Amino acid sequence: MYDVLIVGGGVIGLSLAWDLARHGQSVGVIDRGQPGREASWAGAGILPAVNRATAIHPYDQLGGLSSELHPEWAGELKSITGIDTGYRCCGGLYLARTPGEAAALAAWADDQAGQGVNVQKVVREELADIEPGLRGSSDSVSGTQYSVLSTKYSALPKKGTGVFSLGPHVAVYLPDEAQLRNPRHLQALIAACSLTGVQISANVAAADIAIAGNEIREIATATGPLRARRYCFTAGAWTGQLLARLGVPVAILPLRGQMVMFCCPEGAAPIRHIINEGSRYIVPRDDGRVLGGSTEEEVGFDKRTTEDAIADLAAFARTLVPALADAPIERSWAGLRPASFDGLPYLGPLPGLSNAYIAAGHFRSGLFLSPATAVVMSQLLRGEPGQIDFAPFRVGR
Ligand SMILES: Cc1cc2nc3c(=O)[nH]c(=O)nc-3n(C[C@H](O)[C@H](O)[C@H](O)COP(=O)(O)OP(=O)(O)OC[C@H]3O[C@@H](n4cnc5c(N)ncnc54)[C@H](O)[C@@H]3O)c2cc1C
Repeated sequence: MYDVLIVGGGVIGLSLAWDLARHGQSVGVIDRGQPGREASWAGAGILPAVNRATAIHPYDQLGGLSSELHPEWAGELKSITGIDTGYRCCGGLYLARTPGEAAALAAWADDQAGQGVNVQKVVREELADIEPGLRGSSDSVSGTQYSVLSTKYSALPKKGTGVFSLGPHVAVYLPDEAQLRNPRHLQALIAACSLTGVQISANVAAADIAIAGNEIREIATATGPLRARRYCFTAGAWTGQLLARLGVPVAILPLRGQMVMFCCPEGAAPIRHIINEGSRYIVPRDDGRVLGGSTEEEVGFDKRTTEDAIADLAAFARTLVPALADAPIERSWAGLRPASFDGLPYLGPLPGLSNAYIAAGHFRSGLFLSPATAVVMSQLLRGEPGQIDFAPFRVGR
């Protein structure tokens, strides 16, 4: 009999397990496969910069708390497990390809600046100084196609008429954007969980959920029933499927994302910053590996890669970073993001059940939001006053 049984050992379940165990709870985690090997392993590990002090919506508060917790967790995980999670503040550049993207990017930069995030608009001459790896990329990057609307925060003169201006800007720079190496972060979380007494069971699927009155009585698995005082469902893209048998309306769909990884000669990545463009990005790792991602595909629970998508992602990365032309592709893979119908995760109690909770549906931001999710869910499960308003995240919203 655990205090808490966590169903799903991705970054959300493992982070929650670690936080609960650090607060004296006895915790079990079951995963139907190897813990940490699904979306959490497949992700890129981009951690945006969010300012907690100005965050108003609970989603932004969650982001702000995560921005504060990531460096703390990286330090703690390193000191107790010896594993370097690869957390580092490398900065991120954002590019736009079309006028529409430029306008959207400019509005976003405007909003970020308003929230006190360090955001800088970059003119063409500065771009190669900030990120020399972009030097020589196609004309569309260093020339006029990449442009950002001159906004009210810009001291530079506005040009043109209409909704957007080609203006002198070609990019937006966020020096506080960070990254972690998610496979290492997961390895560290698993080690930290074990050190704090969490019992992690691999290859144990929740097959059925037995209810008695308004409580979960036990979870049926192939190796026998498991019981706990409270249960938390953190099964990522599979959570909706799992809870459907209880009649709980959780609208989470799998959204496939494919990734490609280059291995650069001499172990040195040709870029230092994360380069973002629309929903795609290039992420440099310290050991010379470079990730190119990602697609957004609704193909059910199919995790296969496709030749076309991998070729597209490779071409995208090589167009922006010419030095990648000679770098071989070491590996490609795909993962299933847990996408909720409105982009917000489901967090909080499950309706109609006094001992059941959910933390799932983090879509493209689960690695980023994992420490804050763990902290607020751990408070809720331990009956402590929470730091955020759960209303926007409730089931049945
Ligand atoms: C290509 C790609 C790039 C991404 N990039 C980023 C990024 O840069 N930054 C970011 O913040 N996020 C990113 N994400 C999103 C992020 O990876 C996810 O939001 C996050 O990993 C979700 O974590 P999770 O623990 O909810 O799900 P998962 O990691 O999928 O874990 C769920 C676990 O539940 C287990 N499970 C399922 N059913 C059962 C069952 N019946 N019984 C027991 N266990 C079960 C599964 O085996 C799995 O291990 C990316 C995702 C992808 C695919």
